[in-house]
Amino acid sequence: MNIEMTVRPGISQISPYVPGLTDDELKEKYGLTQVVKLNANENALGPSPLAIDALVREASHVHHYPDGSSEMLRNAIAQFHGVDPNCVLAGNGSDNVIKLLAETFLNPGDNIVTPNPTFSEYELAALVMDAQVKLVDLADDFTYDVESLVAAVDAKTKLLFICSPNNPTSTIMTEEQFSYVLDNTPENVVVVVDFAYNDFSTRQDRAQVRNSLFESPRVVTLHTFSKLYGLAGLRVGYGLAHPDLWAYVNRIREPFNVNRLAQRAAAVALTDAAHRDASILLAAKGKAHYRRFAEQHGLFMPDGEGNFTLIRVGDGKAVTQALMARGVMVRHGFRGILDCIRITYGTDEENEQCTTALAAVLDRR
Ligand SMILES: *Cc1c(COP(=O)(O)O)cnc(C)c1O
Repeated sequence: MNIEMTVRPGISQISPYVPGLTDDELKEKYGLTQVVKLNANENALGPSPLAIDALVREASHVHHYPDGSSEMLRNAIAQFHGVDPNCVLAGNGSDNVIKLLAETFLNPGDNIVTPNPTFSEYELAALVMDAQVKLVDLADDFTYDVESLVAAVDAKTKLLFICSPNNPTSTIMTEEQFSYVLDNTPENVVVVVDFAYNDFSTRQDRAQVRNSLFESPRVVTLHTFSKLYGLAGLRVGYGLAHPDLWAYVNRIREPFNVNRLAQRAAAVALTDAAHRDASILLAAKGKAHYRRFAEQHGLFMPDGEGNFTLIRVGDGKAVTQALMARGVMVRHGFRGILDCIRITYGTDEENEQCTTALAAVLDRR
């Protein structure tokens, strides 16, 4: 039997996500005892100690289903942002929210508009719904080209995705550019702004959450506990939008989409300002470290924000593999920028190990 005859047509055109080696696989392959994992934009400080305490306390309750509406967590998030709790939808990671938006809005033949390169989940979510993906290249320095972004919107466009700071380029959309996008796209296009890394940034001119964004169901902002809060393994994120929009999304949301441990730990993590500040500071030190390295070696590094950077190294794949053999994991293979690697900012020591290895690899060419 050929199973492909039964599979939905669009699915066979989607290539599976290929994760890199895990740190354990890398140790095994190269006989290493220690690896520096800078390939997934995780928080080098780990989770907040308060979040770990909450996890431990919650562990003995996991025989009970979680609160399906994540009410306590949504209240904590609403308070944090100063919005109504009904403006908050919690997800099993923000990936879950992206998928739900695609399922809620996209018919076969509709399209989404997204920058290129960017986070691959927007495209995947659209393809699963048999929707088209209209990619709009970033400018040469990886800043947003909002005129082109707006020009790509057509009568079939339902969702316009923006990622700021953009993964993998780290470049931001400014508030001015964001206003331009909102002013120059039809009201019925939902603009989704992924702020996964925005709280690492202190740049005054960046697009940010404002209460006025949620006065009508036109804008969704996405947020995650995976990066700044160091809870990637728990899978918890959220979206902010007008309650009318979430009313539809809630019809198709899995009833228990955020687990008990994640709800507790995330709510507590929001209250740990010391952990958040330390994480922001560590990223700022990381950025300065790689900026110095890029300047010393004459390598292009975009003017970016967040807890990671791109560096243009020539053959991104070869450099990634050579770094791997030295126990340093980074990421490469982003569409259109195969000459770049993406490095997550680690601890001071990890950053030092990474640039030492990178200098050695680049010198050998
Ligand atoms: C890591 C990341 C996310 C977070 O995804 P989760 O599902 O919440 O772990 C979302 N958007 C971007 C751009 C990311 O890089």
